[in-house]
Amino acid sequence: MAEPIYRRVLVKLSGESFAGPQDYGIDQATIDRIAGELIAARALGVEVAVVVGGGNIFRGVEVSARGVSRTTGDTMGMLATVMNCLALAEALRRRGQNARALAALMMPEVCELYTRAAAEQTLAEGGIALLAAGTGNPYFTTDTAAVLRAAEIGAGAVLKATNVDGVYTADPKLDPTAKRFEKLTHSEALAGGYKVMDATAFALARETSLPIIVFSIAEPGSIGAVLSGAGRGTVVAG
Ligand code: UDP
Repeated sequence: MAEPIYRRVLVKLSGESFAGPQDYGIDQATIDRIAGELIAARALGVEVAVVVGGGNIFRGVEVSARGVSRTTGDTMGMLATVMNCLALAEALRRRGQNARALAALMMPEVCELYTRAAAEQTLAEGGIALLAAGTGNPYFTTDTAAVLRAAEIGAGAVLKATNVDGVYTADPKLDPTAKRFEKLTHSEALAGGYKVMDATAFALARETSLPIIVFSIAEPGSIGAVLSGAGRGTVVAG
């Protein structure tokens, strides 16, 4: 495999990617497979931090539509990301990979608090830093948290893992005429309003000049392929 093009990356895993074939919760076989992919990326010599979503358990907007306040719903969503992180951390450790869950909210009995220094230390020790609870604030998403943390730790790119192999003009599962982009600028992504990431995340990536690579985690070996420049995905940059 070719030399990796990045020294340090931030991988964004949606909660959906943890559910595997189920439409809710955590599918252990899927988490084990993703853990293997992350370890393979580490083995290429790339430092890996991960921001985990929570949509497989709770999304604030959906919870609040059922009568809970939005801020409480978002807190529930952030806690869901912590659950996913704990499951992924264990799956990594079971395979002998040092992994540390760091949450943006204080919960000392559960996991450590995220600080840039703690994330840096984990990466310097060869560990995978799993960043939970998003930004720690309601009204944000874990996509925005991914771009924020990537900028903080100086990652070369955000690898946004999804269930489709890039950014399309429409949802390719619903619209067979949807066109896939090889490349887009941040401004084009914002102007197009593509659903793959929220506008706050794209705007922060533009502000911080961070490339985002949107690719499908359903393809085995896809993280390694993206890291070596051979993977299929859409590059949002420039
Ligand atoms: N969330 C939040 N602040 C953040 C990140 C996430 O309040 O900084 C909440 C929000 O309710 C969101 C939920 O956590 O719906 C799960 O995150 P997200 O929807 O980004 O997960 P994904 O779609 O990646 O599974």
